[in-house]
Amino acid sequence: MSTAARQAAFDRTHTDDLIAYLSSSPSPFHAVASAAERLEKAGFRRVQETDAWDAAAGGRYLIRGGALIAWYVPEGVGPETPFRVVGTHTDSPNLRVKPLPDTGSAGWRQVAVEIYGGVPLNTWLDRDLGLSGRLALRDGSAVLVQIDEPLLRVPQLAIHLDRQVNEGLKLDKQRHLTPIWGLGAVTEGSLIEFVAERAGVAAADVVGWDLMTHDVQPPSYLGKDRELLAGPRLDNLLSVHAATAALAAVAGAELPYIPVLAAFDHEETGSESDTGAQSPLLGNVLDRSVYARGGTPEDRARALAGTVCLSSDMGHAVHPNYSERHEPGHHPMPNGGPILKVNVNNRYATDAVGRAVFAAACEKAGVPWQTFVSNNAMPCGTTIGPITAARLGITTVDCGIAALSMHSARELCGADDPFLLASAIKAFLEG
Ligand code: ZN
Repeated sequence: MSTAARQAAFDRTHTDDLIAYLSSSPSPFHAVASAAERLEKAGFRRVQETDAWDAAAGGRYLIRGGALIAWYVPEGVGPETPFRVVGTHTDSPNLRVKPLPDTGSAGWRQVAVEIYGGVPLNTWLDRDLGLSGRLALRDGSAVLVQIDEPLLRVPQLAIHLDRQVNEGLKLDKQRHLTPIWGLGAVTEGSLIEFVAERAGVAAADVVGWDLMTHDVQPPSYLGKDRELLAGPRLDNLLSVHAATAALAAVAGAELPYIPVLAAFDHEETGSESDTGAQSPLLGNVLDRSVYARGGTPEDRARALAGTVCLSSDMGHAVHPNYSERHEPGHHPMPNGGPILKVNVNNRYATDAVGRAVFAAACEKAGVPWQTFVSNNAMPCGTTIGPITAARLGITTVDCGIAALSMHSARELCGADDPFLLASAIKAFLEG
């Protein structure tokens, strides 16, 4: 397809909204709040895990920390009705603030950080960084904070002091990644004082925090024909955004399944937390949804037996400068549509049955799709798909979008792919 035809064929409204979503979601806590805002607009209402749930039809969601589960109960569905689940994750590799953050050296004020997930460390050098996350307050409440201004920076050593740098940059995780944020003497408590003031709360009331850094450069279209999208956290907020849009779009329709969005936290560190894919969070929601509608354990087993999960996460596009690292017969390209991810060693959960479900959804949506499989000499990444399949015993398919620079502070994908993914997810949820 020519660029002009592609521009005509695809509505960039979706990608424009993704850009807004990425900008408003520098942390998992913001990612779920921004998704919840979109769901509220589509008529979903928030429920608490501690409340009794009712049998009424309609859209609901719950938030636990950086995770969100949303589902839509169509009018008149029985308790044995299977679910269609889209699985995603809200977290991205980054630098996070340590418990005693105020530090410094040689007359510089610095902030102590811990490395979260698989960070290509060099991508965080020489970027202007903001701060975001949540503050836990003395009264038991929490507030979100987002500081979108150049506040911190991890300065790279000048080439004059590191003549061998282009033979391979070596970074010590403890010594070389500490951002600077000013000059002068280190004052204990000054970072939290600053952040509390920006959040509009008293520093004395802040008793805990989950704070992290983000690149303040906004996402943008890229390339001569603007056919690419460069931005932070595409892995995996692109999928969270697409799945939220798809769920909002099917709400209100008559459906043979109950559509569900599961946006987990902590995928980048192995999903082992109360908000990760290894937690009982999703299983509990599915169970409670069955029981709230008067179902029995038998209904639950019947519902799960017919349930399919589409796990959506970023995958690798073929890299023009390293094409030998990719499987030569499988070269996913940006704007070629969503990718089906396959790994026979179950790093991805896709099998023939799942492939058929995915292919049917793409066909129904009129969306092209591609296949990803690793080069045998390269270890394959993994995602929440196999965890969800093993934990709930449900058919699971791994899919995603082809990207370059995965896990970098700023990633790159095709600008049309987000809409194509959302269209495929919508068709999947409709059944
Ligand atoms: Zn991911």
